[in-house]
Amino acid sequence: MTTATVVKDIEKALQSLGVQRENKGSSTGSQWFAGGDMITSYSPVDGEAIGSVQMTTREDYEKVVETAEKAFKKWRSVTAPQRGEIVRQFAESLRKNKEALGTLVSYEMGKSYQEGLGEVQEMIDICDFAVGLSRQLHGLTMHSERPGHRMYEQYHPLGIVGIISAFNFPVAVWSWNTALAWVCGDVCIWKPSEKTPLTAVACQNLIAEVLKDNDMPEGISCLITGDYKVGEMMTHDSRVPLVSATGSIRMGKIVAQAVAARLGKSLLELGGNNAIIVTPDADMKMTVIGAVFGAVGTCGQRCTSTRRLIIHESVYDEVKNSLVDAYKQLRIGNPLDENNHVGPLIDKDAVEKYQAALKKVVEEGGKLLVEGGVLEGEGYESGCYVKPAIAEAENHFEIVQEETFAPILYLMKYSGDVENAIDIQNGVKQGLSSAIMTTNLRESERFLSYAGSDCGIANVNIGTSGAEIGGAFGGEKETGGGRESGSDAWKIYMRRQTNTINYSDELPLAQGIKFDL
Ligand code: NAD
Repeated sequence: MTTATVVKDIEKALQSLGVQRENKGSSTGSQWFAGGDMITSYSPVDGEAIGSVQMTTREDYEKVVETAEKAFKKWRSVTAPQRGEIVRQFAESLRKNKEALGTLVSYEMGKSYQEGLGEVQEMIDICDFAVGLSRQLHGLTMHSERPGHRMYEQYHPLGIVGIISAFNFPVAVWSWNTALAWVCGDVCIWKPSEKTPLTAVACQNLIAEVLKDNDMPEGISCLITGDYKVGEMMTHDSRVPLVSATGSIRMGKIVAQAVAARLGKSLLELGGNNAIIVTPDADMKMTVIGAVFGAVGTCGQRCTSTRRLIIHESVYDEVKNSLVDAYKQLRIGNPLDENNHVGPLIDKDAVEKYQAALKKVVEEGGKLLVEGGVLEGEGYESGCYVKPAIAEAENHFEIVQEETFAPILYLMKYSGDVENAIDIQNGVKQGLSSAIMTTNLRESERFLSYAGSDCGIANVNIGTSGAEIGGAFGGEKETGGGRESGSDAWKIYMRRQTNTINYSDELPLAQGIKFDL
């Protein structure tokens, strides 16, 4: 794919999504406010400046929150199925704009065009899910211990949901939150990653049009842009009852404390350190494909990327050799060119962290099986393209215990039973995604049992990455404990109320307490 084709495609995508080269930074829907300093978004694909947005100032932020508060009063009175209908229309708009948004995601973030499209498809899927959900926001009815009484619980809208998102899923994570929050009757304020602000402007334009067509007020979907300081405006703001934050564990610890200090709710989706266990009964073909996609897909920048392979000693050499061979076939380059498997890292900072991790693993006693390296020359001018690497390592190494957001895969051996592999798999602080490759029923069931994987996601004969929207998504331990997307994840976006109704002509007290005047 030539540079000229990329430039033409990007120009077309920006135009059809209504994204300017210079954008105001804060919005309550159709209205945009001029803010502070400009943030420039550079593409990791070719290093070019794509465009810029203005940082949200404190004054802008106040305007946004006040408008959102007003909008909430109107939005919560729109019936849930009607709110679902608006989300349905948003899904239609995403379908129409799938190629344009997928292209911009790929160019601004650096993931492959197919993955960019996949991300938009995920947005469509969660909208469809939310439409059905809009008729199912149900509570329970329970029997009262008092005669002539009825008890039930119901869910009400919460208010403003603050969303802080990471660069690696620049649009999907927002939609996981908003699609559910909107049908639940909440309004949303989004602070996207400062590394991917233009895809956020595009999403805001698409939803603003849908809300306007439905005569809905400003403030149902709001955007604020900037770095962590803008995120902090929300985490410290008691007008924002729920903050859903996706990003690093370092960020999550700060956000959790800020929100807890004002007794707000937080939903945390933080880093992972995901492993695949390969047992003697694994299907080798599936193992190799699953591991390679998990480790190099999105250039190792998924929260669910495979970082560790825990391989039984009896098949260790076979797996190792197959992986080394498979890595030789990887094509690294422009992610918009569908012939390439691996695109760039997000920026040069990420490249430095990748280089430091490779150095550290060797210093700690590891051995590089596939050496990495930074690519230079034609097509690699951005300086963000690196070679996926494989290292033999031990689980206790400091560097293995950390999440390095880059395509580095650590191989380690286990012997004996699958329990030994599970111990290694669980022997890290993070608890997002895990997988086992086995055709042995006993091994897979032990992996899934209460004594098995301690992660929020545990897969059998699938890699660690690539979750579907239908299940609740999230992880345990330092991954933060939050759940988003499918199943009953919607409940966090609502406040639960228990109601007891007395339809008798007596006033009996609970627990049989006597109180007469
Ligand atoms: P990051 O932590 O650097 O930034 C994430 C977001 O948090 C950004 O919008 C940033 O501006 C904001 N932020 C940072 N400090 C803040 C603070 N003190 N207060 C308020 N906001 C603050 O993460 P990143 O580099 O953009 O993304 C990569 C990380 O995200 C990885 O660790 C990855 O595993 C994680 N992630 C997790 C999931 C998940 O679902 N578990 C999904 C995607 C990414």
